[in-house]
Amino acid sequence: MPASLPTDLPTALPEGLPPRPDGATIAALRAELAQQHPGLELVGPERGAELERLSRDFNSYSPVLEPLFAGQQAQVVARPTTVAQVMAVASACARHRVPLTCRGGGTGNYGQCVPLSGGLVLDLSGLNRLRDLDPATGVITVDSGALMGDLERQLAASGRALRLVPSTVRSGSIGGFIAGGSVGIGSLRWGILRDPGNLLGLEVVTVEPEPRLLQLDAAASEALNHAYGSNGILTALQLPTTEAVDWVQLVVGFGDWDQALAAAQAIVRWAVELNSLNLLEEPVARAMPWPAGCPEAQCEHRLLLLAHPAALPVLTARLGQLGGQVLWQKPQSQSKGIPLRELGWNHTTLHWRSAQPDWTYLQLLLPQPEGAFLTALRQRWGGPIHWHLEGVRQQGDQRLVCLPLVPWQGRQRLEQLIADCRDLGAFLFNPHVFTVEDGGLGVVDADQVAAKAAHDPAGLLNPGKLRGWLER
Ligand SMILES: Cc1cc2nc3c(=O)[nH]c(=O)nc-3n(C[C@H](O)[C@H](O)[C@H](O)COP(=O)(O)OP(=O)(O)OC[C@H]3O[C@@H](n4cnc5c(N)ncnc54)[C@H](O)[C@@H]3O)c2cc1C
Repeated sequence: MPASLPTDLPTALPEGLPPRPDGATIAALRAELAQQHPGLELVGPERGAELERLSRDFNSYSPVLEPLFAGQQAQVVARPTTVAQVMAVASACARHRVPLTCRGGGTGNYGQCVPLSGGLVLDLSGLNRLRDLDPATGVITVDSGALMGDLERQLAASGRALRLVPSTVRSGSIGGFIAGGSVGIGSLRWGILRDPGNLLGLEVVTVEPEPRLLQLDAAASEALNHAYGSNGILTALQLPTTEAVDWVQLVVGFGDWDQALAAAQAIVRWAVELNSLNLLEEPVARAMPWPAGCPEAQCEHRLLLLAHPAALPVLTARLGQLGGQVLWQKPQSQSKGIPLRELGWNHTTLHWRSAQPDWTYLQLLLPQPEGAFLTALRQRWGGPIHWHLEGVRQQGDQRLVCLPLVPWQGRQRLEQLIADCRDLGAFLFNPHVFTVEDGGLGVVDADQVAAKAAHDPAGLLNPGKLRGWLER
């Protein structure tokens, strides 16, 4: 990557957002919905704290984003429990020109479900049924608001599991994960959510005076995968599942960072099944809460694995040869307290920030060799910076991503760090921006914009989050 790429940390909300509706418009919309669908729950200013909570997510990990979203609030929240109610809300919003922002569990990190033009937040948590599990293929059809943790329990009864889950598996919805997430536990085997094959179909409601209920196949669904709900309301998803495994949680200690990194690079290439790999530098390991029975971290770096039970003899023997010591192991099903998978991905950031709220982070796909990059970046930064690495499969290769933790020292320092990361060859998935494009590959995806034109011609869905729509 060229050294001179701008980092583009936002300083303001975008121009060209639809206007915030006036009180009379919202009152008319509410009255109409209440009359036609008396069973539809509506939350308004009379339940102010709830309205505020349902307009927020976890963007506070970014000191760049948090101030931009201050005061951005929905004027009304609708909580449908049926697809017919979703269609009624979509119709009312289209006719009254009220912006509509979808919400699942509200656990996104980039303000994905924060409404930037007020209007209505559509809380889909009441749409939460597992509609179908095909016993022959393992393919499921599931309502978009289902919590992934609940879904996991239902699938386990049939020996199946979701391929990929975020570390927020307990509180995030499956629709929110597809619309707003990207990677997670299982990414070591199954790559990222947008890899072809991880989403097989969508049921979508359009935002028009007479909304359509579309059934999209895998190819047509691609444009709505990771589009922040800006180009269609997802009411159901078709997803492949994988065999359920009682993964064994392993905590391996290393006295030496280079040895720990070499082990992380080596074992993902062995013929052992791993569902996740996470490497924490010593200060980060010390800040984590650990599962019941797992010793607290002292001064060692820690490699955390979710491994297939059949892999244990090879892993324990070979990790010893690589300088590691297995400190604790327990099948996930028997774990008490916090499970190991809630120490990875942005849960690492969460636990770190609970003691150091003035720290922030980045998300980088590391160039190879990773060790040289980390040494060079630390040197350039010249201050405290701690490593947290995760294993992923990227276009068929096993790679490491890094979510480095750094103290917040102002925009300029963060801009410099971003420029250094790029200059040294890392690919940045910027967690300090709010558009789909800027948090991803940086380029406008014409298919995403075309899907918005087809499904949301008035541009009411999650305004401001699809840069390609604003720039068209
Ligand atoms: C501690 C922590 C750890 C995390 N770890 C991970 C991780 O491992 N991997 C990862 O990818 N993410 C992670 N995240 C981000 C987030 O938790 C996940 O992406 C999660 O799956 C989002 O689901 P949600 O239901 O909370 O979505 P929400 O935050 O409610 O919504 C996310 C986006 O999807 C849209 N949306 C939601 N439902 C629909 C729908 N039915 N139709 C259309 N659009 C919709 C929203 O408008 C929004 O743009 C983490 C966040 C935190 C705070």
